[in-house]
Amino acid sequence: MRIILLGPPGAGKGTQAQSISNKYNIPQISTGDIFRKNIAGGTELGILAKSYMDKGLLVPDNVTIDLVKNRLKEDDTHNGFLLDGFPRTIHQAEVLEALLKEQSVAIDVALQIEVPREFIIQRMTGRRVCPNCGASYHLEFNPPMLRGICDDCGSHLIQREDDKRETVVERLEIYDFQTAPLIAYYTEKGKLKTVDGTKAINEVFEDIIRILGEANDHH
Ligand code: ADP
Ligand code: ADP
Ligand code: ZN
Repeated sequence: MRIILLGPPGAGKGTQAQSISNKYNIPQISTGDIFRKNIAGGTELGILAKSYMDKGLLVPDNVTIDLVKNRLKEDDTHNGFLLDGFPRTIHQAEVLEALLKEQSVAIDVALQIEVPREFIIQRMTGRRVCPNCGASYHLEFNPPMLRGICDDCGSHLIQREDDKRETVVERLEIYDFQTAPLIAYYTEKGKLKTVDGTKAINEVFEDIIRILGEANDHH
């Protein structure tokens, strides 16, 4: 299956992406994680990406699109993939569509995790992430078994630089202007499915499994 996850920052995309990726045995491609890996590694791409991410702005389309194009050339994507955080602009979505068309394939589902604004700030300020494997935790809603330590790989959890309140507000505005139009885009294509992201993490996951199961049956 070829799946896109949509939703504002803090909706729970990364959290659900890990479970979906495990269940369907498809790679999770998170542009945010790839940028953060590059920042940690001090690469040229990382330095460039950081200058936008720290301000809550999107990394320019040409840079982001190249990155995803190359990632989708890798063999592990042949039986499907889960895009987490891409596309984030209409232009990115159009390029992705054209790219897949060249390979005679298409996105199966654009899955929107819907979460009202009043939940978001609390989710993002309490978020702690694993710098090694990208796992996402929450101080209150999804704490790790050992405080400050990743359940999956034992690394020390950190707070993301861009999860500070001021940057969060900026990111939400960027989402409204640049990314939210994708909801209409995928609705028109008949690809959009929506889950209620305010439920507990495991309940959201169950709803997602049901929706993806139905989408798969239509093949
Ligand atoms: P969140 O999970 O909170 O939505 P991400 O980890 O997906 O955040 O993204 C973090 C930052 O990385 C974004 O604010 C943006 O600066 C950059 N980024 C990630 N994906 C994209 C993309 N598809 N296009 C442009 N910038 C991106
Ligand atoms: P995104 O990738 O969309 O930015 P994350 O998956 O990182 O979002 O989730 C944002 C924060 O909210 C994290 O701290 C995560 O643990 C928490 N979270 C995710 N899903 C839920 C949920 N259904 N209920 C409560 N908190 C959640
Ligand atoms: Zn980890």
